Parts: sequence; structure tokens; C-alpha cells
Amino acid sequence: MDHATSLSFAEKTQWLSITACPYCDSKAIASEAKLAARFYNFGNSRIPVPIGTGLVQCGECSLVYKTIIPGKGLLSKLTAATQASLWASNYDHAAEIEKIRSEVRGEFSVIDIGAAGGEFLNAMAPYAQRRSALDILHFERLNVSANGEFITGFLDSPNLIWSEYPYDVVTAFDIFEHLYDPKSALKNIAKLVKPGGLVVIETGDASAVRRTQNWYYMTLFEHHICWSPRSIARAAEDYGFEIISIENKYHKGLLTVPKATGRLKRLAYELSPRGYHFLQALGGFDGSTPLSPGLEDHLRVILKKSDPSRRRPPK
Ligand SMILES: [Zn+2]
Repeated sequence: MDHATSLSFAEKTQWLSITACPYCDSKAIASEAKLAARFYNFGNSRIPVPIGTGLVQCGECSLVYKTIIPGKGLLSKLTAATQASLWASNYDHAAEIEKIRSEVRGEFSVIDIGAAGGEFLNAMAPYAQRRSALDILHFERLNVSANGEFITGFLDSPNLIWSEYPYDVVTAFDIFEHLYDPKSALKNIAKLVKPGGLVVIETGDASAVRRTQNWYYMTLFEHHICWSPRSIARAAEDYGFEIISIENKYHKGLLTVPKATGRLKRLAYELSPRGYHFLQALGGFDGSTPLSPGLEDHLRVILKKSDPSRRRPPK
């Protein structure tokens, strides 16, 4: 079913024009490109890309941002309409959990930003008793733990309402590309995590994505910005985080498809990106969004919040 056709005229026109860098407010431009896709595919919806949608790399902080993005109302409505099919995955998060456990000893508390159906929180059950979630809506299949909380809202909301009891670990997998206001998001994260606590972020890497056909990562309806090691490092410094590690990785979605299928997709994409897009469109799949084919085009970033009370190195 095509939900896009059920949108009212007002909803269809709920697009925002972005005229300065959403992170640093600079209007300086290092480079720019047109977004090649004509349609966004989101859940079951097919939404025309507004004419004139471009990609700009900020000349000041190097963040890449889209110049026309859907407003929060439009995004929320389509998310609610398609939640059953959105962001469900059987990915086990083993690599992420191992990283976290190597940095944090003993029992800890965790909040997952954009928890969707709670797949990551479920995987964390053996290690974290207090397991909480923040999301724009409470997915029907999500359960937070008995002593956890569910925070309804956008991470970049300027007035986030929550328990005010901070966490040892804050995770944000595939969230940072959705931000409208990265400054408010970082401000909120800095409050959500305890001094000395960890923030684990996974998001697209602009420096890897730009080498591919059509900036496919940005042809997603809900992807507004794209970070890089440089822009992340700047944000970490601005908000009082120390960088523990920044590494490239495959998108987690790619790791859940059968290996042979994944390899075939990557091969097809490497042979002919255009042909790959064409075949996907013919098959009725996300024509504009191949599943991160062939590239470690994501970043896994681990940050630690500075702890001013701890002058001596930990034992
Ligand atoms: Zn900037």
C-alpha cells in the first residue's frame, strides 16, 4: 500500500529548507552536489524528492547536510504508519556489546537512543539491569526493563523530559544521520551520560560515502546529515568528550543478510552501480538505497565523558 498517496496537501508540503550548517551555523561551503535520486522509499511509501534538494559540505566543521528535509510532523506520521516494517533486524550486536564490556566493568545502566523494537536492549539484558530507551514513538514490540524508563521524543529536542538519573552507557546506532539539531542532541547526550560514562555512536561516514555512486546513503528520506571522523572529533571536543576510538565498519544491516547474498550484492554494485540501482528498482526494492554495498562506510565511535572529579588515573 502506498501511504504517500494518503498524505494531505499540507503534509506533503511539510519540508524544511536548510540554509546553514545545522551543527555550526556557518554558511561556508566546502563542496556541494545535487541529490541524484528522484524518489525516497520509506517503509511502504514512495515519496518524490523535492526538486532542488542538494548536499552541502560545511566549509567550517565539514558536516555534510541536505538542503531540503522532511519536517518532524511528516517524518513522525510516516514512521507511525510503517513501524511494523521499520528497523526490525535479527542483528545480535555482539561486536558492540564486546566493545562496551571491554570499557565498562561490572553491572551498568544503558539507554538506547532510537531503540525501535528493543533488539539491542534485549541483547544487553545479561549485562545491564537498568535498560531504557528514547524514541519518537513507543514501538509496540519494545519492552524496557522494570527499573528503566521510556523517553518519548526526538534526541535533539530542546526540552527533553526524563528521569534526570544519568546512565553509564548511552548508545545511538544509526541515529546521528537523522538529527535536525545536532547541537541539542549532543547537549542532551552530555546530560544522559554520567561523568566517565561511555557514548557509542554508529553512523555513516561521509568520507567513505562520497566515494560511491550518487551519495546513496543520503538518498534515504530520513537521513539529513552525514558525519566524518573530522566533524565527530570537533563535536566531541565541543561537548566535553574524549575519543576512545573511531573505526570504520559495515552497516549492521549488511551483516544480517546471508553471506552469499551480501557478496553478490557487493559484486553487482562494484561492477555497475547504475545497473545495481536499476535492477533494485525493477524488483520493487529500495531502488535508491542499496544495502551499504561493498563498503565499510559506517563509523563506530566510542566517546568517554570527561570526569572532572577524577584527577588521578583510574586503578
Ligand atoms: Zn558546520
